[in-house]
Formats: sequence, structure tokens, C-alpha cells
Amino acid sequence: MIFTIFLSCLPFINIQVVNNSVLILSSPLLQYPVPLIRRAWELGLINSHIPEDCGGLGLSSFDACLITEELAYGCTGVQTAIEANSLGQMPVIIAGNDAQRKKYLGRMVEEPLMCAYCVTEPGAGSDVAGIKTRAVKKGDEYIVNGQKMWITNGGKANWYFLLTRTDPDPKCSASKAFTGFIVEADTPGIQLGRKEMNMGQRCSDTRGITFEDVRIPKENVLIGEGAGFKIAMGAFDKTRPPVAAGATGLAQRALDEATKYALERKTFGRFIAEHQAVSFMLAEMAMKVELARLAYQRAAWEVDDGRRNTYYASIAKAYAGDIANQVASDAVQIFGGNGFNSEYPVEKLMRDAKIYQIYEGTAQIQRLIISREHLGKYKQ
Ligand SMILES: Cc1cc2nc3c(=O)[nH]c(=O)nc-3n(C[C@H](O)[C@H](O)[C@H](O)COP(=O)(O)OP(=O)(O)OC[C@H]3O[C@@H](n4cnc5c(N)ncnc54)[C@H](O)[C@@H]3O)c2cc1C
Repeated sequence: MIFTIFLSCLPFINIQVVNNSVLILSSPLLQYPVPLIRRAWELGLINSHIPEDCGGLGLSSFDACLITEELAYGCTGVQTAIEANSLGQMPVIIAGNDAQRKKYLGRMVEEPLMCAYCVTEPGAGSDVAGIKTRAVKKGDEYIVNGQKMWITNGGKANWYFLLTRTDPDPKCSASKAFTGFIVEADTPGIQLGRKEMNMGQRCSDTRGITFEDVRIPKENVLIGEGAGFKIAMGAFDKTRPPVAAGATGLAQRALDEATKYALERKTFGRFIAEHQAVSFMLAEMAMKVELARLAYQRAAWEVDDGRRNTYYASIAKAYAGDIANQVASDAVQIFGGNGFNSEYPVEKLMRDAKIYQIYEGTAQIQRLIISREHLGKYKQ
């Protein structure tokens, strides 16, 4: 239903209808989806988790994930652009003081603004403790120098969550060496890189950002000096369930497209769905989609019930990311030669799926977390 509403505000996007399915075609020219984001904002489909005391809807994680799955079913590029707002906002939601929350979350309720989460650098992604961006305190300000990379909404954000190193001592533990800031995007010294041309999700805006003698007032430190690493990592427990929901939405779309095609395409005098090899592929795909949905819903439910959900969030993110790739690849297989062609829907799904195994912690990093959490229970 959400997708149908969105279609009414897509005048500039290249849409094609194939086999009664509406496609948003991926193209190097695909623009950042400003009209969609504005409409999503009006409908309350973006920023849904901003707390009520900041003017937001304060929806549960479970509800937000349901919305995310639907958005992803339509286009995961749009979903990532929208979801990156949650990622940028989450450090402020979990660690902001009253003034910071009202100022930076409140403004997003008043206008359809974007924000971004600036942690990854050219030299450090999985190894967050390896980041080099430095913040040095001078009087009532911090002076920041460094470079961030792969920042979703980087060129569209009104403000950033920024992770920096404040203690230069390499022996200082991660839990004390880093500081998180809120940074206004128009602060002098911030230089945006080009919009990166990625394999998929091409309407999403991904960039490098350089910080050169950027002055940040001390009021914009989250919690206090040294608290940044825990804040940056803590945000993922809340944002990984929606990422898993996005991957599930993509997988559901691939399953639906493949099933419709299998019921229309004939070989050897039968619909290909009547060949057991194809119908069993569809069955496997359906099993994966249903289990990924249960996994993200469990992870979201843990958040809503106030329990630490690191284990479930990583299971959901890893599983949904993996099956989105498997299901999209199987959908291409079921489409045969047509599946390899960009006139048909599943080629885009396969390209879009890959990022779910990379951002917000790679598939390998999720397994590190799951094994640590799992073993931790036995060692207690
Ligand atoms: C489109 C896109 C959007 C993104 N958006 C954001 C954003 O908004 N904000 C942000 O801060 N970042 C963002 N990222 C960055 C993303 O989170 C990182 O790319 C990701 O965490 C991986 O880091 P890396 O690219 O440095 O890979 P590396 O850390 O160099 O990893 C390379 C490979 O080694 C593996 N590996 C690394 N360490 C281990 C280990 N200990 N054990 C096993 N395997 C390991 C990895 O799994 C991976 O396969 C985005 C990236 C992309 C591509």
C-alpha cells in the first residue's frame, strides 16, 4: 500500500511496468529521491522512532521495521536513504541530553531534513577503533581534522553524528579514546566528496567527507569526552533490525517476481513452476524470507521490551543480508536469460542486495558478534 501511495509522487523517476509489476529502474542518472522523502515525511514513514517528547511519533522498533520492509519492497535505494536518518539520529536518541535531542531531533520533525552517521574512514570500517579523525579541545571548542568515507546521506545531511579520536595515546582503550559529536553540516571546513557510483541502490547518496580545522562547540559532545565508541556501537543494536527488515523486503520482492514469472513462462509444454526443480527453489526462497522476517521481528521485539538485543540484532542482520543475496540470485536464475537483463526487475534486486552483507557491520563481523555473545552465555 505504501508503495502505491509513493508512486503518485514519482514524476521524474523512470518507471516501467513488467508483468503487472511496477519497477523503479536503476540507472546511473537516478536522482536522490527528494519527492519521495518529502512524501514519506508527510505520511510519518520517516523518523518514526523520534521520541514523542521531541515532537516525533515514538513508534516501536517493531512498527518501524514493518514500515522499512514495505519501503524496501518498493526500492531499497530509497529505503537506505530513509533508513540512514535513523542511523544518524540513533546516537542522539540514546545519548543526547535534553537540549541536544530537542534541537537536532526536533528540527527533523519540523522539516523533511536528512542526517548522517559519520564513522567509517578510508582506512577503517570494520575496525572502528582504527579511525584516525582527530578532535582536539581548544577553549570551548574542539578542532576536528580527518576524513570519513562511504557516508550515506553525506551530501544531503543537515547535520552529522561524527566519531573522532580524542585521546592520541594508542594504548588508551576504545571505550575511552573516542568522542562522538553532533556537527552542523554547513560548518566551515567540511568538504563533500563526489557522489559515489555504487553497484546498487544508486539513488542513495554515498560520499566521502573531509573535515579540515572544523570547529565544533563543546555543547555538541554526546555524553562526554571518551564516550563515543560505546555510543556509536550501541546505535547498531537499534538500527540492525530495520536493516534486516530492508533485506527481507528485497527478498520478498524477489520471491514475488520469480513466482509470477514461473507461473507465466512455459518450457517443454508446462509452466516452469510445474517443474519440481523450480518449485522447490521457490519453496527454499519462501522459507528464507519467512525466517528472515521472524528474525528481524524478534530482534525488534527485544528492543521494545527493553532487553539488550545485540545477539538477535546481529543474527537478523546477518541472516537477512545473506538470504536477500541468495533469493535475489535465485530469482535471476528463475528468469533465465531475462533475469540477466536490466529490463526485468530481478537484475536490480541482485545488485541492490549486496550492500546488506557489507554496511552496518559486514556478514563476517556479525558472526564475530554472534559467536562472542553466544560463547559469553556459556562462560558466565
Ligand atoms: C553504500 C555504503 C553505505 C555506507 N554507509 C555508511 C554510513 O552511513 N556511515 C558509515 O560510517 N559507514 C558507512 N558505510 C561503511 C560500511 O559500514 C563499511 O564499508 C563496512 O563496515 C566495512 O568496512 P570496510 O569497507 O572498511 O571493509 P574492511 O573492514 O576493510 O573489511 C574487508 C573485508 O574483511 C572482512 N573482515 C574485516 N575484519 C574482519 C575480522 N576481524 N574477521 C573476519 N573478517 C573480517 C570484512 O568482513 C570484509 O569482508 C557504508 C558503506 C557502503 C558501501
